[in-house]
Formats: sequence, C-alpha cells, structure tokens
Amino acid sequence: MRRPLVLALLLTVGIATLVAQSRKPAGTDHSGKAFRFNKVSDGVYHAVGTGAVAVVSNSSFIVNDTDVIVIDDHVSPAAAWVLLDEIKAITDKPVTTVINTHFHFDHAHGNQIFDNRVTIIGHEFTRQMLLSNSLGMPLYKNYVTGLPAQIDDLKKRLAAESDATTQASLERQISAAENNLASQRELKATPPNVTLTDHLTLYRGSREIQIRYLGRGHTAGDVVVFLPREKLVMTGDFLTAGLSNMSDSFPDEWVASLDALKKLDFDTVLPGHGEAFTDKAKIGYFQDYMRDVWTEVSRLKQQGVSAEDASKRADLTKHSAHLPINGPGVPLIGVQRIYDLIDQRRQK
Ligand SMILES: [Zn+2]
Repeated sequence: MRRPLVLALLLTVGIATLVAQSRKPAGTDHSGKAFRFNKVSDGVYHAVGTGAVAVVSNSSFIVNDTDVIVIDDHVSPAAAWVLLDEIKAITDKPVTTVINTHFHFDHAHGNQIFDNRVTIIGHEFTRQMLLSNSLGMPLYKNYVTGLPAQIDDLKKRLAAESDATTQASLERQISAAENNLASQRELKATPPNVTLTDHLTLYRGSREIQIRYLGRGHTAGDVVVFLPREKLVMTGDFLTAGLSNMSDSFPDEWVASLDALKKLDFDTVLPGHGEAFTDKAKIGYFQDYMRDVWTEVSRLKQQGVSAEDASKRADLTKHSAHLPINGPGVPLIGVQRIYDLIDQRRQK
C-alpha cells in the first residue's frame, strides 16, 4: 500500500528539484536598468552597476560570432541573473562561457545560476577556494554579516530625511540591499568547471581571448583576460581604478606580478572596480603604493604595534595625488593579512 505514496513523494521531490534549478533566484526585483554597458570595442562591453541592483563589482562581456563570454558574474545569483537579462538587449546569442578573475564574492557569486552546459573558467586556486572555505573567509563574512546593519542604517536615515530626492535615493538603496540579502540566503559557492594554472586561450572566429595568470598578487589565483587584437585587458581586482582589497593578497609579490601585466600590449584596462581607463601610469602608482604599504606596515609590526593600531597609523598619504587616500590609515583586513604573512614566513 505504501509504494504509490513513496513513488508520489519521489516524483514530487524530483519535480521540485528540477523547478528549483531553473527558477528565477530571489532578489531580482528592481526598477530601471541595473547596468550601464560601456562599449569599448566591437562586441566588447564593460558592465558597471547603476545601483538598482547590488552588484558590487564590474563585469565585462564579449559578443562573438555565435556566443557570448562573460567575465565575472557579481555578488549574488540575483545580480548575475539580471546581468544576463540585460545582455539580451544587446544580443540573443547564448552565454556559453564565464571567466572568474578570482574567487572573491563580488566576482564569482553569480556562478550558481549557470547550468552545466556553461563552461566556467578560473585558476585552479579559484576552484579550490570556492570548493572549500571561501564563504568562511573574513572578506565575505564581514560583508554578509554587515548587510542587516547596513539596511537598518539606511532605514534610520530615511526616517530622518525630509528631502524627497534623497528619500527616493535611500528607498532605492534599501530595496537593492534587501534584495541582495535575499539572494545571499540562497547562495551556494560554485567553482569553475575548467581550470588553468598558467594560461588558456579561447578562439572565437577571428577573436583571440587569452586568460593569463601573471603571478600571485591580489590572491594566489587572479587571472587577467587579454584581447591582443583589440588591445584590451580585463583585470578584475589585480588592477582596479583605485585601491584593491588586500585580504587574501601577497603585497610584496604583487609588485612583480604587475610588471608582467605591463609587458602585455594593451591600450585599455577594464577593471573590476571603477571605470575603464587608458593611463598605464596607474600601474606604477599602484606598485609604488603597494611597496610602501608593505614597508610601512612591516615597520610598525617590528615595533610591536598591534594590527588595529597599525591600521590607524600606517601613513600612505604621499600617494594621495594618484590614489583615493584621504588621510592616514590602511584597512585593517589588509594590515592583518600582512601581519599574518610575516608571521607565517618567520615560522618557516
Ligand atoms: Zn572585487
């Protein structure tokens, strides 16, 4: 007698699983465009968020003869879903390939919306991190546990605000943050299904798309995407328009890895944060900053200063002409990383 019931249950669970895989993720509601698509070359776009949906980073996409390649897929399944939806206004070609520049949440947490026919490419280290403890790393933990407080704060500001334009802006920010939180609750870290350790080249008609690992820097597995014909490079957080996060970095090795980037023949950088730029001098400014961060923080550690105090005292203001630095201080997460690296190397 029980068998039909068990069968019915199995069928129901089976159907539910299928539906769960294909349904729209939570948190995609928004009004207006979520992205500005800046066309940088024929078929190549830099996607920058408008604020209608929380995306946190920039992505890029390349429209080829028969397919689309997406570079980085943002902070949540919802953000990736909306990106794909808006790409449909540019092309009806299918997204066959995603490239993760690195494992960080704001670049790879859209991976789960792609079915297994889509090739997701990343460095072997990126796969290992997304398979293991990427959700337990301080950068993501701080981010996701801080979201409810961020929403409360926005709501308090809204309650105290009398200007209608500011009210509308705050309401938009609250809605984007609440949708982001709903999407984070569905998050499953999803690793690349194709990996590289040095380089991998994709050929699409006359287009050549090189994926290159240039050495440890922002993480142990950042890759850049280099289009030699178009003279473009997508750099993720290996090189941004401002300061990159240092929580999983190797600041002293990063300088040399950026020298390898300088050797590529490109005119335009499409960074993971900030607008696209052509000024190659920015690489040197960032290298100088990174050298000085390492020296300054190491010096404070040598003097027995705590990481918390070093974070307030480390003075990099001499770089303020070229980088967004308003006064002394370096984010604690970066200082802590340098302290940990120095301790680890001493133990060896
Ligand atoms: Zn980032």
